[in-house]
Amino acid sequence: MSILEKTELIKNKELKAEDNVENFMEIINKKNKSINALLEVNEERAVKKAEEISRKIKNNEKVGSLAGLVFAVKANINVEDFTISAASKTLENYIGSYDATVIKKIKEEDGIIIGMTNLDEFAAGSSTESSYYGLTNNPSAPGRISGGSSGGSAAAIASHMCDIAIGSDTGGSIRNPASHCGVIGFKPTYGGVSRQGLLDLSMSLDQIGPIANDVSGIAIALNNLISHDPHECTSLKWDTPNFLDAINTDDLNGKKIATIKQFHEITDDKINKVIDDSIDKIEDIGGEIVELDFNYIDLALPTYYLINYVEFFSSTRKYDGRKYGYKIEDACGDEVLRRIKLGSYISQQEFSGKYYKKALQSRSLIRTEINKLLKDVDLIVGPTVPKLPHKIGDKLDPMEMYAYDVLTVIANLGGIPAGSIKAGESNGIPVGLQIQGKPEEDYKILELMHLLEVR
Ligand code: GLN
Repeated sequence: MSILEKTELIKNKELKAEDNVENFMEIINKKNKSINALLEVNEERAVKKAEEISRKIKNNEKVGSLAGLVFAVKANINVEDFTISAASKTLENYIGSYDATVIKKIKEEDGIIIGMTNLDEFAAGSSTESSYYGLTNNPSAPGRISGGSSGGSAAAIASHMCDIAIGSDTGGSIRNPASHCGVIGFKPTYGGVSRQGLLDLSMSLDQIGPIANDVSGIAIALNNLISHDPHECTSLKWDTPNFLDAINTDDLNGKKIATIKQFHEITDDKINKVIDDSIDKIEDIGGEIVELDFNYIDLALPTYYLINYVEFFSSTRKYDGRKYGYKIEDACGDEVLRRIKLGSYISQQEFSGKYYKKALQSRSLIRTEINKLLKDVDLIVGPTVPKLPHKIGDKLDPMEMYAYDVLTVIANLGGIPAGSIKAGESNGIPVGLQIQGKPEEDYKILELMHLLEVR
């Protein structure tokens, strides 16, 4: 049953919202201990909300478009009365005192929040191994990392602990774990979804988005998450389509779909094999495939990480231990400390324009180039992640960890929408296809995802 079908069953009184919650609770109770996708669960509040929805339905009152759907939220997004730890000891005692804009919207539309998901500490990572609360196992490839930083959200979806999980994506954190866990993850156009209430990793790159098991779930989520936020200066005024219409397309009608030579060159052969099959499929469903060059691939990671360090350093200055939590430098793990130290160093050097200014110039080069490539085509497709998820216990150095992100950071640097959908498997390990589009053409990505899902 798709998420769309489920919402109809609930509205038509064929499935009770309470039963939807209880079914998920059963799975959570059975599996979460070993998977560690959810850091906190509140069954009581979820059931109460479900009962309220059922009452409205019984009385034939109008309910919201998310009525009875169960959500899990990455623990770096504020939800009232849950622990918003960002998986850091720094904030282990910080209880959300308000709802982020996206959470308000989910609640208004009668979505049910069941709990908070695991992540890399402050979303700074690609494996969810740096969580203060322990790593998240990959339900689709046991014994391997779930990816990150929204590893808990992707694993919650892959193990069917909720209908829709909310993540954040600064350099790939929705798409990377979606790829490793074999589910669908979507990073909308920058500015489409309000960031108000999200703990920043790197504010000029951060974007909130959904993870789900089917395209209708992503579409329903986007219909609610994307909207103008007058309190946020980067928020877009965007006349959005009904994203659910994307699941009615039945042909690509000659849409031009690009592959990028350099994306293939840096990717593991095992992954390319799976991706090539997907590209053949896209041709079968009416896409016209063209190959393009992206000449700045070597700049992607240095540019991304420089900007990330500087913006993260600045956003962590509020964690000084005076108002709430501990002083971050006293409580955080290695990767977070590395970013704070390097961000501080780079900021101090800034009078000479040595690093950050160069990173901004290189960012605008990357943005111009990716948008130029997209001018002549509808979408760009390729691998989401260039290598398979490593085994739990394998120790990676920082550069090896960063290398996971080379194909995903481009969309954040360029502000463009991008999603990942399962393309297939390599030796039983899921492989994701990344689909990128022009700003505000998120809809086209969903259309292609839908066609791949049904064929
Ligand atoms: N892995 C990237 C990083 O460590 C991306 C993280 C993210 O998107 N939140 O910064």
